[in-house]
Amino acid sequence: MSNKENIMIILSSPSGVGKTTITKKLQQKYQSFKISVSHTTRPPRSNEVDGIDYHFVSKKKFETLIKDKKFYEYAKIFDNYYGTLKNTVDMMLKQNDIIFDIDWQGTQQLTNFKNLKFIKIFLITSSKEDSKNRLINRNQNTKLELEKRLKSYNNDIKHWKDYDYIVLNQNLENCFQQIEKIIFSQKNKIFINSPKAQ
Ligand code: 5GP
Repeated sequence: MSNKENIMIILSSPSGVGKTTITKKLQQKYQSFKISVSHTTRPPRSNEVDGIDYHFVSKKKFETLIKDKKFYEYAKIFDNYYGTLKNTVDMMLKQNDIIFDIDWQGTQQLTNFKNLKFIKIFLITSSKEDSKNRLINRNQNTKLELEKRLKSYNNDIKHWKDYDYIVLNQNLENCFQQIEKIIFSQKNKIFINSPKAQ
């Protein structure tokens, strides 16, 4: 994907739809893409690495960052904080396309920054049952966490209306190809409309 103008993609979904897999696949395939690594107070899972999957910080540290207005957006999700630092985004955007794996609350806050332009994609599965099975198969959550995630499904799914595109993740390859198509078409559109292109 050539670097005509850097773009920002937001990927959101209810829990258990496969967003993180898609995000990582995009980064692996396209050098231009960098994932925005969020800060969180959630404890790391056994397969997660600090600085790569998240910046894992204490609640105290996170609240200091909130007080110092360091975040473009942050939200409390399943009783933990998650947020995107302004500095990181501003630096990355100079060199790269950015992909955000964030929830609907963060999306609403980011889109309040009128100087920033996003392509907002909402991923869904065919049913709540499907998401539940994925979460169970993924086996990365305690029973309590699983319950919290399933409980928030009904509210999370309502926010599909806030997004530019809704993509069904029934088959990973098909879903990935659809997202690629959206990104290519948007990149070309931005290029055609950009004064730099003339
Ligand atoms: P998980 O605990 O499964 O890694 O993430 C839980 C939820 O938090 C997911 O929906 C994920 O997209 C969202 N999330 C991750 N980082 C951020 C962030 O920086 N801001 C917001 N608002 N949501 C985030």
